[in-house]
Amino acid sequence: MEPLRNLGEDALNHLRSIVGEEHVSISSADLDQHSHDESFHEAHQPAAVVWPGSTQEVSAVLSYANQHRIPVTPWGAGTSLEGNPIPVLGGIVLDTLRMDKILEVRVGDFQVDVQAGVRYKDMNAALARHGLFFPPDPGANASIGGMIANNASGTRTLRYGSTSDNVLHLQVVLPSGTIIHTGTRSAKTASGYDLKRLFVGSEGTLGVVCEATLRLAPVPDKLSAVIASFSSPAGATNTVSAIIGSGIVPAALEFLDLATTRALNASGEFELPEHPTLLMEFHGTTDEGLAQELSEIKGLCKEEGCLDFKSGLGRQVRDQMWRARHQNYEIQVRSNPGTAFLIVDVAVPVSQYPQLVEEAEKALAAHELRGSMVGHAGDGNLHPLVPYTPGDAASYEVALAAQKAIVEAAISLGGTATGEHGVGIGKRRFMALEHGESLDLMRAIKETIDPNGILNPGKIF
Ligand SMILES: Cc1cc2nc3c(=O)[nH]c(=O)nc-3n(C[C@H](O)[C@H](O)[C@H](O)COP(=O)(O)OP(=O)(O)OC[C@H]3O[C@@H](n4cnc5c(N)ncnc54)[C@H](O)[C@@H]3O)c2cc1C
Repeated sequence: MEPLRNLGEDALNHLRSIVGEEHVSISSADLDQHSHDESFHEAHQPAAVVWPGSTQEVSAVLSYANQHRIPVTPWGAGTSLEGNPIPVLGGIVLDTLRMDKILEVRVGDFQVDVQAGVRYKDMNAALARHGLFFPPDPGANASIGGMIANNASGTRTLRYGSTSDNVLHLQVVLPSGTIIHTGTRSAKTASGYDLKRLFVGSEGTLGVVCEATLRLAPVPDKLSAVIASFSSPAGATNTVSAIIGSGIVPAALEFLDLATTRALNASGEFELPEHPTLLMEFHGTTDEGLAQELSEIKGLCKEEGCLDFKSGLGRQVRDQMWRARHQNYEIQVRSNPGTAFLIVDVAVPVSQYPQLVEEAEKALAAHELRGSMVGHAGDGNLHPLVPYTPGDAASYEVALAAQKAIVEAAISLGGTATGEHGVGIGKRRFMALEHGESLDLMRAIKETIDPNGILNPGKIF
């Protein structure tokens, strides 16, 4: 498919007739805004941006685009880190911003029905008055559609699962314009192929999610944040397996290396111990139960050479702690002018996490790079930040080589090239290594559902 950088007047008029004059734009500000996500990947402008207001409008746009072989790239909040929503072949960007309604909260079922464009932080703020929340927590204020399409997860995945574990039912528009429903509002089903999970994580290449039923969790009565620092990365990472093996399930269990704690403190906003550190959160129903668990966790940390163990920290410290974790990338970018970062997103079985951290350190050192690392350690997920100088091709090549070494190490440890950010543009080169012949089956599924290849072309494969 050739890139399509302009649409003729007929096509624009047809799109205007579907979504309304003011919801189609070819202004350079709108094209520019939809040409890049939050990643380092090259920007590509679409020919037009459309903002449909309903599932029927999405269906009409896709049906028209399919007939005329116009590429369509779905767009949520544009916070991806792997170029996932960049319209590399131009055409239409279909932005779900207007489809932002919370349709129904069913408190007794712990479920909510939403449109795809709703932002998860806004949704959780609205759910708080029912004592409920949607646990997957990618940090950025992503849209539910984008979280579903990337199968986002985050700090709370260890206890509550990833997005795919918390989606019960989807309404999806196929590239032909056909509207389908998949999944059920029942907590379990054994009925046929699990198409819902096929769409979760498909990065907008198979269909546009318009509505979803999500599983919710009660807001915990009691919580404690824990900050534990160690003399070595191995002390911290060996503790991860020990904690999970204890049967106590933290709500979050994150790893920060020494370089990260130093960078966060240097911003002047945080006071973390300058050591390899685990940030943890525990939820419970009584103070006594929580205290008992924390004392066990402290014992496990001490066995692995923990230098300092602070627990019993309340909501305020907890919020500050997660702010540090979530702002790490922005702080690293801000405090290193003239440097950009490849964000690696590898994940391995948790027993292999210490080895993964060691391999990542070796890969950075072998390429003479001063990177840093954070990770959702409880899920075996590690994010080395690999620095390079924008505009310097040689430095970019070195960063890519370090990324490749880390990804290959993760795959050889039984893991994956991407734990949560998706394949997008940057991980395509690892798909054959990770999936072997099942990549052919993925291609066949794509060709069956989207024979004209209009949906988010240039991604995954
Ligand atoms: C500071 C920062 C921290 C982050 N931390 C995490 C983290 O901890 N965990 C994590 O998982 N991610 C993280 N992310 C990445 C990002 O927030 C997630 O990938 C998120 O799910 C993207 O959602 P979005 O709404 O921005 O989607 P977009 O970036 O707009 O799109 C993502 C993909 O979904 C497709 N898409 C969008 N809407 C739809 C729809 N309705 N139907 C079908 N396809 C659709 C797009 O085509 C694209 O392929 C972080 C990002 C930033 C900037």
